[in-house]
Amino acid sequence: MTVSWTPHRFTGGVLALDTANTVVLRCDPEKTFDRFADPTEIARFAAAASGFRASELGGRALAVSSPRTIAPVVRSIRETTDYLFRGAVQGGGVAADNLAEFLRACADGLSGSQEAISIPTQPFGNAAMPIAFEAALAVSALSLLREDTIARIRICPNCAWLFLDRSRNSSRLWCDMAVCGNRQKASRHYRRRRPTAKEIANV
Ligand SMILES: [Zn+2]
Repeated sequence: MTVSWTPHRFTGGVLALDTANTVVLRCDPEKTFDRFADPTEIARFAAAASGFRASELGGRALAVSSPRTIAPVVRSIRETTDYLFRGAVQGGGVAADNLAEFLRACADGLSGSQEAISIPTQPFGNAAMPIAFEAALAVSALSLLREDTIARIRICPNCAWLFLDRSRNSSRLWCDMAVCGNRQKASRHYRRRRPTAKEIANV
């Protein structure tokens, strides 16, 4: 079944975190699944991300030459990004060993690219041409490596997605208030209204 790449699936705030969040429910071994299990979804994700991440990308479109060919490097950047920054949020720092793996994965994404990136006002290069998705993913992931950015990465308490909190007072709790915030509210409401059999027996 094809994935519907809705705005909710781009609440990470940057391309690299949106990509990390294509693995759903990472913390639940029973329920977790990979939205890139079918590599053709990488191309569909990239097409959607070209729109949702247009301001980050400086208007550059993302190009996917062959989803199957790039799938291993995309997964490797995705997994090392998640591991590095989730660990940084949980442990308060970037683990040097994890950083080495992350940099190797990013290097693979950039390797062989003829791009000129980090041009002033054009961090992803010249917007006149599309950029290879794996190269853009590496640039986005590397852009997270700043102390003030890491300080704003959060883990959604409902779905465990990573997201960048750009709120003025750094107080955003949910990846998406309309989805995860409401689900938590609904479950609290449900618990209040429908006590369990054990709770009833204890009354
Ligand atoms: Zn969430």
